[in-house]
Formats: sequence, C-alpha cells, structure tokens
Amino acid sequence: MKIESIAVHPLSATTAVPLSTAHETFRTSHFILVEVTTDDGIKGYGKVHGEPMKTICDWILKFGDIIKGMDALGHAEVWEKLFLLTCPRPGGLQGSGGLPPPLPRSARPQIMAAIAGIDIALWDIKGKAANLPVYKLLGGARKSFFTYATGSYYRDNATIETYANEMASFVANGYRAVKAKCCWADMGEEVERIAAIREAIGKDTLFMLDMNAPYDVEECIRFAHAVAPYDIFWLEEPLHWYLQPSDYVKLAAASPIPLAHGERELTRFTMRDFITSGALRFAQFDSTRYAGFTEGLRVAHVAEQFNVRIAPHLSPEIHTHLCVAFPSASFAVETIGNKVRDVLGLGIYKNGPQVKNGEVHITDAPGFGMEIDWDFVNQYRAQ
Ligand SMILES: [Mg+2]
Repeated sequence: MKIESIAVHPLSATTAVPLSTAHETFRTSHFILVEVTTDDGIKGYGKVHGEPMKTICDWILKFGDIIKGMDALGHAEVWEKLFLLTCPRPGGLQGSGGLPPPLPRSARPQIMAAIAGIDIALWDIKGKAANLPVYKLLGGARKSFFTYATGSYYRDNATIETYANEMASFVANGYRAVKAKCCWADMGEEVERIAAIREAIGKDTLFMLDMNAPYDVEECIRFAHAVAPYDIFWLEEPLHWYLQPSDYVKLAAASPIPLAHGERELTRFTMRDFITSGALRFAQFDSTRYAGFTEGLRVAHVAEQFNVRIAPHLSPEIHTHLCVAFPSASFAVETIGNKVRDVLGLGIYKNGPQVKNGEVHITDAPGFGMEIDWDFVNQYRAQ
C-alpha cells in the first residue's frame, strides 16, 4: 500500500470574545485536518494545531511530494525521512538524493507540525488497513480514559466570581478534575482568584494550574507556596520559556506542588531531558502540535520508565488512544469542556469521542475512529 496524495483542510472559527492565557490572546479556534490517500483508496486523517496555518499547509504539501510512493504502513520510515531533512547531509546544499537542501531553522515549529499531521494520518491508515482502532493495535483494552476540563481564560471585565462559576460548571457537568489558566495578574490577585475557584469547585475536585511560563525560579517558588494551601494538583509550564531541565530541578526541589511540562517541546530529545531530570511528575507532549503520534509514543515509553505520568496536551480523539496503551503510566487526557474557547471542538467528527462523567469515551471504529463531517469542514474552512 503506497502513499498516493496528500490534501490539507485548514479550519478556523472566531471565538465569541477574545480569550487569553498569561502569554497570548486567542480570537479564533483553529486546526488543520490532513488527509493522506493511499493507492488502494484508504484515506487517513491527521489533525494538527499551529500557526501560521498557511505555512504549515505549504510544508505538508511539499512533504507530500517527497513521500509519494512510500509504504503507507511504514510510519517510522516516513517520519525519519522527513525529520532528517531538518539536518545537513553530504551534498545536501546541491539537493542530493533528489531531496531539498536542509530545511530552514526558522521554520522548525511549522515543519514539526507538518510532520505531525502526516504521521497521525498514517496511524489512521494503519488502523483502517488492519480494521482495528489504534489503541488496540497498541495493546490497549479500555474504551475510555480519565479527562479534565480547562477554563478560566482571561477575559476583559470578568470578575473573580465569573471564573469561579465557570470552573464550578465543569464539576456540575461531571468533571472530577479541572485546570485553570492563571498568572496574568500580580501574585496577590492570582492567589485570591485561585482561592475562590477552590471554594467553588469543592475540596474533592482535582485542581491544576496552567501558568503559561510566567516566572523565573525564585518567583515561582514564592507562587507555589502561596497557592499550596488550595490543594493544587500540578503547576503546568511554570517557568519562562528559556529555562531548562536544570532550572526545573531547582524548582521541583523547593515546590510543594508537582510540576507538569511538555506541550511546547518539539521532539522526544528535549522531552527526554525534562523527564530524566527527575523534575517533572507529568509529561504533556502534544503529538498534534509537533512530531506526531510516533513521537508521542516514544515520549510515553521514556516517561513510563522514569515514573512520570503521561498527560498529553489537547486532542482527546487522538491522545486517548495513546493513554489507554499505557494503562498505569497515563494520568489523563485534556478536554476543553466548553464551546466558548473551543468553538470547533469535536464537531468535525460525526462519531467523535463523548465526554461523560469525567471520562473520554472512544469508539471501536478503525484507526482513530474519525468519520469526517464534510459539511462542518466546508462551513469553517479557512481561506
Ligand atoms: Mg498548557
């Protein structure tokens, strides 16, 4: 079975109001659906997040020309062929092997997103060729997995009560774990809001904080001690983007709260160093943002061996298949839990995963089980 062609379908929808993390403001919800077709007519679908979408789509189409004719079941071979294009090779500048010169350093995030989309589609093809869901190919046996909802995105003019009520609404909808965005205000205001959310969600709900890289080590140690009385389950992306595993080790030694990190790492190699440093309790590699399901599996195997729990960032329709393949090493998949932030949500699938009683439920349909709703795709197709 050979790869015949690749198509891209970028989707975008405007959010009702601008929503922010500590670092950036979202005005749209968007992703790219990647469609790989084989010579015997099987179509596999991948999904990736990232920007600029146009740049990522261009890379996916360029890569499509390079991998055309390769074995559609050879995901590792395809992954490596594309990944190695990011590095120099003998004769590379002259286009040796009929391949392009080494790919530009400046485009690495978009290139790794493009590889991810193709790789996920190939896993979907593999499942369809075997007539099995991906989780069964990997030896998983459960059709559901623990999930948490993410909310408390900053909005202009929102009060502390607004955030507390929003987080409590997730619990009312059956979630037993919730994650709040935070760290856009001074520490005193942050602690006040976090206290109000804990009060609103009750003492039995797991409560995580998603910080989006606001602090250096010393500031974060102060923050961790200030919020610890509210029984915080993890601190996610606690440190500035440039800080490294050795900085996380210092923070972990002084923080009363476990650390989570990984959604912005491009490869298994930086994830390996975070995991083996001993600083993390949770690994959040996002295979739908960078490097794909193949890389997500590689990260999961390392995490499992170092007693770090797997908690992939977003895309529950993909990542639930990974989590159930690591039954005791995985912690949870992430679902946004409301349509305000996640306008597109899982609406693209006719038979997408359902979230009930704090668990994501997937189906036994082959591959990732996605039956695409093309009316939905056409409604939200980005220009
Ligand atoms: Mg996060």
